[in-house]
Amino acid sequence: MISLDKLKQKLAQPCNIVITTHHKPDGDAMGSSLGLYTYLIQKGHHVTVITPTDYPVFLHWLPHNSEVIIYTNHEAQSKQLIKNAALIFCLDFNSLSRINEMGAEVQNATALKIMIDHHLEPEDFDDYRHWNTKACATAQLVYDFIVNYLHDSALINKEVATCLYLGIMTDSGSFRFPTVTSDLHRIVADLIDLGANNAQIHQLVYDNASEGRLRFLGYCLSHKLEVLHEFNTALITVSKADINKFDIQTGETEGVVNYALSINGIKLAAFITERSNEVKLSLRSAGDFPANEICKKYFNGGGHRNAAGGQSTDTLAAVTAKFKAILPEYKNLLLQ
Ligand code: 5GP
Ligand code: MN
Repeated sequence: MISLDKLKQKLAQPCNIVITTHHKPDGDAMGSSLGLYTYLIQKGHHVTVITPTDYPVFLHWLPHNSEVIIYTNHEAQSKQLIKNAALIFCLDFNSLSRINEMGAEVQNATALKIMIDHHLEPEDFDDYRHWNTKACATAQLVYDFIVNYLHDSALINKEVATCLYLGIMTDSGSFRFPTVTSDLHRIVADLIDLGANNAQIHQLVYDNASEGRLRFLGYCLSHKLEVLHEFNTALITVSKADINKFDIQTGETEGVVNYALSINGIKLAAFITERSNEVKLSLRSAGDFPANEICKKYFNGGGHRNAAGGQSTDTLAAVTAKFKAILPEYKNLLLQ
């Protein structure tokens, strides 16, 4: 690990910087990446945001979105940028498996690697770490890093504020999760003062659904929702055919799982989707129930206690059966 002073020295001169974030980036991943990007370019650095995969259209309005490079579409260029970087910022993930094939490129790069993240159990691949699992969003940690560590609050302009606001809004469920504190509200108030248009950002993300997404949601709730009252668990399983029927795009399944969790008394909710070459699980839980433990132990994944994910190469039916078979092990916790 290097000291903050050493990192500050590196940042004192313009250099090549890559910012990357996890597979299928969400609002926090893109908000924190483009917020940090917009801060760093003001310091004269040559910065590129490289995402391992594509990301939802409802995030494409973000400032500087057009400068983002998607690794799978520009592999050679991405490899060169990673190789030439003096610094690589790894945002909103802490395990190289979360950036797919890019993981090996980042690992082998000579650049100093800086992790800014709020997930549990970080892997040891970084040279500097700004990590706090109590933070509600990585965007909150980017704000903290710029303001309290680099003492550069003057460079949080309207664009930076907009990106960081978006990251905090999406990872906090619009400021309602238990991770939301009065300190976080003070940060959010500051971001609004600095130019983040809260109503507009909310509208761009949440009032911007395609007709297909809404009809798909209705279909999931009326036809696909299964409630296992004996385990206080609800699940929704959808096949590739369902996804195709409603023309569902990257990111458009986000949030469906929360409807299952919103049922009175439900402690654990699962959204299980068949993708092109794997089955993806999204778990959400209430209170102390450790959704991340199930994902880590049984589905090659992880995440936070109340929001976690995983995947499997088994069939949709097999994954669903496996998920149900796990529930008796957690019966006491689920019925508490
Ligand atoms: P989502 O259900 O929205 O895909 O993910 C919920 C949370 O779980 C996110 O914080 C995400 O970072 C984490 N997560 C999702 N999939 C994985 C995975 O495959 N591995 C790990 N370690 N975390 C995941
Ligand atoms: Mn996050």
